[in-house]
Parts: sequence; C-alpha cells; structure tokens
Amino acid sequence: MTVQASDTPVLKEKRRRPNWKHEVGFLLIHLSPVLAFFSGATLIDWAICIGLYFFRMFFITAGYHRYFAHRTFKTSRWFQFLLAFFAQTSIQKGALWWAANHRTHHKFSDTPKDPHSSKVYGFFYSHIGWIMGPDFKNTRFDLIKDFAKFPELRWLNKNHLFPALVMMLAVAGFGGWANYAVYDVSFFTGAWSALFIGFALSTVVLFHGTFSINSLMHKIGKPRYETGDESKNSLVLALVTMGEGWHNNHHYYQSSTRQGFFWWEIDPTYYVLKFLSWFGIVWNINKVPYHIKFSKNLEHAKQLLNKSRKAK
Ligand SMILES: [Zn+2]
Ligand SMILES: [Zn+2]
Repeated sequence: MTVQASDTPVLKEKRRRPNWKHEVGFLLIHLSPVLAFFSGATLIDWAICIGLYFFRMFFITAGYHRYFAHRTFKTSRWFQFLLAFFAQTSIQKGALWWAANHRTHHKFSDTPKDPHSSKVYGFFYSHIGWIMGPDFKNTRFDLIKDFAKFPELRWLNKNHLFPALVMMLAVAGFGGWANYAVYDVSFFTGAWSALFIGFALSTVVLFHGTFSINSLMHKIGKPRYETGDESKNSLVLALVTMGEGWHNNHHYYQSSTRQGFFWWEIDPTYYVLKFLSWFGIVWNINKVPYHIKFSKNLEHAKQLLNKSRKAK
C-alpha cells in the first residue's frame, strides 16, 4: 500500500514482472534496425519508414481506438475488417485485445484497476511495463462482446501477427525491386534494408508513438476539462500521433470521433475519416456537442444544456 500526496490510501494491484523468454521477439524488433549498418539504407527505405509510420498510425487511432474501443463512427463489415487488419500490421496485438484493454483504461482511469496508469504504477510501467508483463496478455472478450461476435475479427485477434507478416513480405518485395531498379543493389540487399529501416524502425517508432499516449499524455501538457484523471492535451503529441494528443478532450467526451474539439487542434485522423465519409466508406461520425465543448466540467455542461433549452 502506498500513500498519495493527498493522503488518500491507494491499494495497488500486484503487477508481475515480464517473463523475458516471452519478450524476446519484442526486444529483437527494437534491435533489428541496427542491422541496417550492414545492409545500408536508401532514400526509398526511409520513405517507406515514414510512409508506413503515418499509414499505420492512422489505422491505430481510427481503427483500434476511435472505432473498436469507442465506436465513434460506423462503417461496413469489409472496412471494419480492413481497420483491424492494417492496425494489426503495427504488431500491437489484436484489435479485440487492444480495444478491450482501452475500455478498461477509461473505466478506471488513473486508479489501481487502470492497466497503464503512470500515476499509480509509474511512468515506465505505463509506457511499456504493462505490455511486457504477463498480466494483460489475454483478451477480455467480456469487454468487447460487440465486436467479438464477428468470426473474422476473432480470427485476426487470434492470429494477430498475420497482418504484420503480410506487410513484411510486401515491404521486402517492394524494397528489393525498387532498390534494385534505382540503386542497382542486389534484390536481397534491397529487401533486407527495406525491412530493417522501412518496416522495423517504423514499427519501433510506432510502438513508442502509441505508447506515449498511455504514458506521456497522462503526464505532460495541459488539461482543458476537469475529468478527474491525469489526462492532458498536447499539440506536439497530436502531431506525432495524428490527433491523439488531445487526450484530455477525449477523456472528457469519448464518443466524439474528432478529438481536436477546436479548429486549431490539429487532428489528421479526423480529417482522413471525414474524407472517407464523402465516399460513404464511413458514416455517422460523432461530433462534440456545444454544451460539452464550452464547459469546464460535467456540472457546468449540464447548466449550459439547460440554459440552451430554456432559450429555445
Ligand atoms: Zn480512448
Ligand atoms: Zn488516457
């Protein structure tokens, strides 16, 4: 048991340490970009790296987060599958696993039951400890029944590395061909350098970009709303994560597809979803209501709502 600054006793859950034998793959991905010192790296590899970072970040925030965890918009069954498939090319486990844990995070934000609270368990644990530790390896299907009913999503969740393997083959094939055509290196050298820089480095940066929402976004930046947790807003993190940096907004009103509530709060994921909605690929994009947007806390929001009803 620890005692917080407010003298409120907090009963922490026992969180176990990683079983290193099970984390070898995760550690190897972190080390593999170093192999580019042997293979070399071309501009094509770096372009794949940057392109794949933002491509996959979109599917993480639009798919894992705004669709599967929070259901903030609607889409067809085939695009729902693509959202899960491409999100899983990031090697951040299955969409059902991801969304179920995230629902727990919102339900118990910054309390001992939160899977990754930096306030309760420390910065390192909130960033990476909970992912490497054995306590959150299984999917809580009871928390994601709405999507677990789709057999194709259950299959993807079970075979969560399959989309990443497909992506690796595609990167190796394209990298080998393009590097051979432009730089005249052998197909195999070009394929390996594309894998080390285009895929692996991009995946590692993507890990930490996503994890920073769990760790940094409950630590740095400014809160606009009184949410009762430690969530904050940060422009820098919003740029890195395609709009997820408006985390305090999001904690305050989770049903909104758009997390940058004001026009100056850059939210690229929302812009892409809006674009897709023009073609009928997604629809029912949720907006943030006026009384929420301009309130300080839920009590104030209630007052604003009553005021606007009386004025009508
Ligand atoms: Zn969320
Ligand atoms: Zn949060």
